[in-house]
Amino acid sequence: MTIAITADTLRGLPLPDSGNGSKEARGSALVIAGSVEVPGAAILAGTAALRAGAGKLQMSIAAGTAPHAALAVPEALVVRLPDGEDGHVDHRVAAEVLLPRTERAAAILIGAGMASGEPTRALTAALLTGPAQAPFVLDAASIDGLCAQAEAVRARGGQVVLTPHAGEMARCLGCDRDAVEADPLGAARKAAEILGAVVVMKGAETWIVDPAGETWHYAGGGAGLATSGSGDVLAGLIVGLLARGTTPAAAAAWGVFLHGEAGRRLAQTCGPIGFLARELAGEVPGLMRDVA
Ligand code: AMP
Ligand code: MG
Repeated sequence: MTIAITADTLRGLPLPDSGNGSKEARGSALVIAGSVEVPGAAILAGTAALRAGAGKLQMSIAAGTAPHAALAVPEALVVRLPDGEDGHVDHRVAAEVLLPRTERAAAILIGAGMASGEPTRALTAALLTGPAQAPFVLDAASIDGLCAQAEAVRARGGQVVLTPHAGEMARCLGCDRDAVEADPLGAARKAAEILGAVVVMKGAETWIVDPAGETWHYAGGGAGLATSGSGDVLAGLIVGLLARGTTPAAAAAWGVFLHGEAGRRLAQTCGPIGFLARELAGEVPGLMRDVA
């Protein structure tokens, strides 16, 4: 059975209350994102994590861009990653810097806006096999080739959320993009089974499949969401919800809904296309209040 993601279904999956109301109780999100060429991905995802209600934000980004990211998101603690070659960070040093921080984070995002290739894959593998207890969101370059080395994800026992679009899903499974586009739900089911993870298969419609095969569907949002940086905001919302203690499947469903409804609201106030990804997250606190 497929569950349609609506405000009503989400009321059946309530977000955790804020505990004692302290920022510690709503958790620290660690956002490892961006690159020399795409520093904005870290800014978009980090801001979205706070808008989803995470209590604290650590943003880790290539050293050359870190001062700019710090000024763009003054709420964040910024962790500099040493610049390597071709826009990649030096993954060995990055793992040394990040592993102790993953132990203290309540949820971890890696991949949005990072350069595709072996350094990002190696850093992702190092963090997944490290001491972190927290759930992970894997986006964009961190998803490449994952099904061929599924064990590190499987060992996390369902505490990983993947957010691929069709091209990233094809690279995850090692198949053609056309095959994913012909059957996105089938691709999501296959990846969820191989990886034992929650898979958010993005597109004009979004399918979510959890490791037990439970399936959710969302078809709202509108074409304005097909814009640069939009997926970085979604990944940030999901890691922020996870930091608050939301379960992986519920964080995925809430994140997809909040992102889509934010797009719908901006389409009404601004116009159906042409709003900016950076404008989405500002809609989220009011949407969460209205659904709850
Ligand atoms: P990304 O490609 O990573 O930037 O992610 C794009 C985001 O926008 C995903 O959440 C998609 O589900 C969403 N999206 C893309 N195209 C559409 C569309 N035509 N209608 C609704 N949502 C879309
Ligand atoms: Mg993306």
